[in-house]
Amino acid sequence: MSAKLNAKQRWQRRHKKYFAEWAAKNYHKRVVNGVCTGCGKAPRPGLRTCQQCYDRSLPSIRKYRRKVVASIYEFYGNRCSCCGESCLKFLTLDHINNDGQADRGRFTSEMNFYIHVATQIKEGNPSIGLRLLCYNCNCGRSRNGGICPHKEIA
Ligand SMILES: [Zn+2]
Ligand SMILES: [Zn+2]
Ligand SMILES: [Zn+2]
Repeated sequence: MSAKLNAKQRWQRRHKKYFAEWAAKNYHKRVVNGVCTGCGKAPRPGLRTCQQCYDRSLPSIRKYRRKVVASIYEFYGNRCSCCGESCLKFLTLDHINNDGQADRGRFTSEMNFYIHVATQIKEGNPSIGLRLLCYNCNCGRSRNGGICPHKEIA
């Protein structure tokens, strides 16, 4: 990314606070009017954005999602709580008491769930009942009546 700002970006930087307020108000207005929150045109059925705006925002959504998930993983030690697997791509957030469905049901999306968990951690009030498990241990556990086969070998 270039460090040089174009005229619009310079303006936005100077008017950051004002711009944020304006954007929030505009966003709210579009939600109320049931139009795309990005461009004000017709949104996808049942959603808040149109396909173009969604596609355009996808990279930043992904980036944000990665950041949120990374902060959660870091808090839970960046490794599988059973076998110690530390390759992040193998890891998944696990509900210790298998109450994942009920818990996730409270949130409209997986992302909202992650944001909730990350916020709790940030506020020093981490949600209990969560841990990191690798896919191996996760699948092993569900195939083995709730106990990872690793625990039986040990
Ligand atoms: Zn749009
Ligand atoms: Zn594991
Ligand atoms: Zn295991």
